[in-house]
Amino acid sequence: MIISENAVVLFHYTLTDEDGNQIDSSKGSDPMAYMHGHKNIIPGLEKELEGKKVGDTMIVTIEAVDAYGEHQEKMVKEMPRTSFQAEDIKVGMRFQAQTGNGSVLATVTQITEETVTVDGNHPLAGKALTFDIRVDTVREASEEELAHGHVHGTGGHQH
Ligand code: ZN
Repeated sequence: MIISENAVVLFHYTLTDEDGNQIDSSKGSDPMAYMHGHKNIIPGLEKELEGKKVGDTMIVTIEAVDAYGEHQEKMVKEMPRTSFQAEDIKVGMRFQAQTGNGSVLATVTQITEETVTVDGNHPLAGKALTFDIRVDTVREASEEELAHGHVHGTGGHQH
């Protein structure tokens, strides 16, 4: 079976950034599971996996626009220091922030005496990502998985 619309795919991956630093890997744990054609994973990677089969390997670089998007300046906000209650607020801290488009995971990127700069971009926004992939499993989706639009069981949703 090849990877096409509605296939359930499990794959192992190692993710590195433009400088070759490893960001994430499934080595030593369960493979990543997704349902093809349902935007479960970044669009560039889904496109590269189309037509592949079990055992196929590939190394692909996905540009930011087809991964987590470009880094958007409008998602970076400078807020008054006084709007934070935590005394020990630190650069790198992450928290849920409410925006007009729902909640995003924001990161504190700079702190001065008066202001705190918060970045609501995905931490991987603006980055080209290189994936080293091995396709582990390709199978038909169950009716329940199709109804939910995602994979159940190993590497997927547990509910
Ligand atoms: Zn489900």
